[in-house]
Amino acid sequence: MALDENKDSTNADRLHLPGCDLEMVRQWLLDEGHPRFRAEQILKWIYEKNAAAFEAMSNLSKPLRAWLDQRAVIYSSEVARESVADDGTRKLLLSFPDGETTETVWIPSTRRNTACLSTQVGCPVGCRFCASGLDGMRRNLTAGEIVEQALRIRRLIADEANEGESAGRLSNIVIMGMGEPLANYEQLVKALRIINAPWGLAIGARKITVSTIGLPEQIRKLAREDLQLNLALSLHAPDDELRRELVPWAQGVPIAELIDACWNYFKTTGREVTLEYVLLDEVNMHARHAEELARIAKRLRANVNLLRYNPVAGLPYRRPASEAAYEFQRRLRERGVNAHVRSSRGKDVDAACGQLRRSTREA
Ligand code: SF4
Repeated sequence: MALDENKDSTNADRLHLPGCDLEMVRQWLLDEGHPRFRAEQILKWIYEKNAAAFEAMSNLSKPLRAWLDQRAVIYSSEVARESVADDGTRKLLLSFPDGETTETVWIPSTRRNTACLSTQVGCPVGCRFCASGLDGMRRNLTAGEIVEQALRIRRLIADEANEGESAGRLSNIVIMGMGEPLANYEQLVKALRIINAPWGLAIGARKITVSTIGLPEQIRKLAREDLQLNLALSLHAPDDELRRELVPWAQGVPIAELIDACWNYFKTTGREVTLEYVLLDEVNMHARHAEELARIAKRLRANVNLLRYNPVAGLPYRRPASEAAYEFQRRLRERGVNAHVRSSRGKDVDAACGQLRRSTREA
């Protein structure tokens, strides 16, 4: 990793620490005349003790803290808006110094705390049913901006714990927010290594899921990264014609090619691939769609997550009735597929990706 990549000119050229690995921070300190062992101390404050400012790093000398304050930054974003759903899902709209915004979500449950992270501002894929896709892509997020989202969620969890709410700790990461993660491949993998590192957020790779619309070449590359990540393929349609209609980016990528890449991922990593399928009323949930989806799932030995669509203002797609969703699930199960209708968390806080950002801009 090059140091300059983590400098942000809009942050007065300060080093954005969440985008740096341990070795980089050591080398940077050494080059600037400080002992390398300070790197462990600084990262421990950030990743273990949730420090938001250098001032809090009490085992560092005052002059070093002041120097860090001038030369580095922990949080580059500000929370522009926060919303809480009835089910406890919390969504943050983060604003970066260049004025761009992205979203990050904390999904608490009895057994785990999951952070759903974004990898881009906007999204280039342009799924016809999605708010993020409506405005296209503005820019990639840096590794530091991706890691910072997880740090923000971790602090939210810690704050709740301090207030006596049963919060626990951040246990799972899903890369399912705004953007196509594999279209920002280098920054994504850099961020995931920091999230996974023992000196970083120390979240096991098996607790991390990358959700992609399916870029075959990058899926094969990810399989070779020596990371045991879970992979989720957002299929949304079981035949090429319908998929091209719903997912414009799928134009040049036949489903057969995606199945090959996912099979390669499974064979190389030993990690199962999950198929994500948004249920759109009257669009992709007829009996023949269940049959075709079951064929694909069985070829990949994949589980299927069925997600009832969250309507987006201005788009023509509708949320199916729960009976229809369970009927679709039943059709898959009777063909031997492990399928589940997943609840849509945070429906009342614009939980579909991109909706909070959109509604804020339109306000
Ligand atoms: S559903 Fe996901 S991949 Fe599709 S446009 Fe929205 S953010 Fe992009």
